[in-house]
Parts: sequence; C-alpha cells; structure tokens
Amino acid sequence: MSSSSSSSPSRSSEIRRDAVFGRCVVFSPARARRPSDFRSHSPVSNPNASSKPSCPFCIGREDECAPEIFRIVGGDGGAGEWKIRVIENLYPALQREAEPPKDVPELGPCKVSGFGFHDVVIETPYHPIRLWDLPVDEVGEVLLAYKERILQLSRHGSVKYVQVFKNHGASAGASMTHSHSQIIGLPLVPPSVSARLNYTKEVFDRTGKCSLCEIQSKDILIDETDHFSAIVPFAATYAFEIWIVPREHIADFHELDHKKAVDLGGLLKLMLQKLSKQLNDPPFNFMIHAAPLELSATCLPYTHWFLQIVPQLGVIGGFEIGSGCFINPVFPEDAAKVLREVDLST
Ligand code: AMP
Ligand code: ZN
Ligand code: ZN
Repeated sequence: MSSSSSSSPSRSSEIRRDAVFGRCVVFSPARARRPSDFRSHSPVSNPNASSKPSCPFCIGREDECAPEIFRIVGGDGGAGEWKIRVIENLYPALQREAEPPKDVPELGPCKVSGFGFHDVVIETPYHPIRLWDLPVDEVGEVLLAYKERILQLSRHGSVKYVQVFKNHGASAGASMTHSHSQIIGLPLVPPSVSARLNYTKEVFDRTGKCSLCEIQSKDILIDETDHFSAIVPFAATYAFEIWIVPREHIADFHELDHKKAVDLGGLLKLMLQKLSKQLNDPPFNFMIHAAPLELSATCLPYTHWFLQIVPQLGVIGGFEIGSGCFINPVFPEDAAKVLREVDLST
C-alpha cells in the first residue's frame, strides 16, 4: 500500500483513487486480451441455433473456460448437466492471487494492489436463451447463485464490496453474446457506494426515514409483487431506467431467500421482457446496489439494496462528463406509464 504513484509500467492490476474527483479506476492489462464474439458474429437472434462454434460458455465447452467455482445442476443431475455455472473470469480485471491491501487511506490519491475476484455467471447452458427467456424459478436460481457467491466472497476478510452486474449487447459493454452476468469482489468500498450511503444517511438524520422505503408515488410504479416494487426512479438518470426495490427495508442482497428469489426473478423477467418489447431488444446493464460487506449496525436504518436496470439508448456527452448531470428526454412518469402498458400477450 502506498499513496504515491510509480512511473514504471506494471503488468499487475492496480486500483487507483483520483485526488480531485475521488473516483476509483482499475488498471488491468489482462483486460486488453479479452476477445469479443461481437466482432465476428451478429448478436444472438436465431432461436434454432443451440450453440455457437466459437462460444466457450456453451454446454460441452466447459474445458475452454477458466476454472469453475460452482454449478447449479439441472435435469437429473447427470454428468455434464448444469443449469448455471459460476466460473473464474479468464481475463480478470482483478487478481485473486495478488496481496490484499492492508489499509486504504480515507482521503487523497492512493493506489492499492489489484487484489480482488472477478467471476462470470453463465446463466444458461444454451446459447440462444436470454435471461428473460428462462422460467421464473430459473431466473430466481440465477439470483440465488449471485447470493451464494456473495456469501463466499464475504468470508474472505479482504473483500469489502461485491458488485454484481450484467452487460447485454455490445454497446452496453458485453464482449460475449451468451447470456451471462459478472461478479467483482473489491478490496475497498467504491467512492460512489460511500457517497450513496452518506446521502441516505443525511436524509435519515434529518427526516428519520429511509430514502428507498419512502418511495410511494403510484405515478412512477410499473408493477409490484409481494416483496418487490419496479419503478422508474423519480429523477431517472437514463430514459426508461428501472429500479427493482425490496418493499421491506433490507440492507443486504444476500439475505434473499428462495421464496423472495423466485418473486424477484418474476419481476426481473417481466421488466426485461417489457424493455425488450418496447425498445426493440436494447443493449442494457443491470447492477445490484448492495451494502458494503462490513456494515456497522448504525448504518442499517438507511441502507436498502436495489437492482438498477439501465437501457443504453444514448451516448454520454460533454455536459454529462463535465457536470455529472444527465439530460433525460423521457419523464419518469411517462416512462412508467409506457412500461405499465406494454402488452406482452401480443
Ligand atoms: P462481457 O465482456 O460483459 O460480455 O463479459 C464476459 C466476460 O467473460 C469477460 O469479462 C471476459 O473476460 C470473460 N471471458 C471470456 N472468455 C472467457 C472464458 N473462456 N472463460 C472465462 N471467462 C471468459
Ligand atoms: Zn454460447
Ligand atoms: Zn428502506
């Protein structure tokens, strides 16, 4: 751990925090070698194709992947049968073998070793299947696979925050067309997570209320289940952005039990189907905004996890980069109405 930067090039990953914005950047030479199957193939659209000759995530090609961490078995559980595989990333942004940083100064520029975990969740053995094509209980199983991996990483004392995310489509950052998501275990709490919690703390200190529990407006509600609400956030940064929020105040995503996972799986599937139908299969990302792993009990009242879905419909320009403010052409109330009314039966 050092707070000064070195001018000599390094082949190991490194995480640096900037002195002015306080942002973190992962420098990862291994990522440059990452192949992209978007370059040689068009995105998945042929439902009759059962696998792609070049895809290592397809069933039967397990030996072309980085090591498996665990699998959820399917069918009769026979040899080679699986429904979900959680594997190491062949081109990891962070390195599990690196020395974990001992401590990270709270302020100022700093750099720490690129220690961390970067895993891939292969959501289905079959190439043409998209996450929202899976039956509801299998979407739930994908969510439970995230939970299981978060629990494993939480036992590693040096992992401080786990980011679960999905990239779908080349312009949303995906390099592989086979349905998958990713999990990164970081050795520090990212500044944006601290800023989110500092903000909700300030609101809680002044009002005694949790910002996410307080979201009640019917105008921005798309749908709700027993345990979750899907909304377009009041000040959505992106057009047709969706948040899926637990209706009960819960800090940790990894508290999800089987019943709630199926409930969430159904709502996530529905929202992805609606986005796909309304916006013509747009590229999108989703991210789970969770609590840091070592959360003190005093933070619990204002820490409430949620899942954010962001269709990538535009590009980020100079105003957004310069000011951090975004221009959204669609009012959240209008987006919510459109999404409420998407008819999936036709
Ligand atoms: P994305 O770039 O969002 O599509 O995520 C796909 C991830 O899979 C990338 O981070 C790649 O580094 C990773 N990857 C590509 N090929 C393999 C492989 N054969 N085994 C494990 N991970 C891989
Ligand atoms: Zn495949
Ligand atoms: Zn809450």
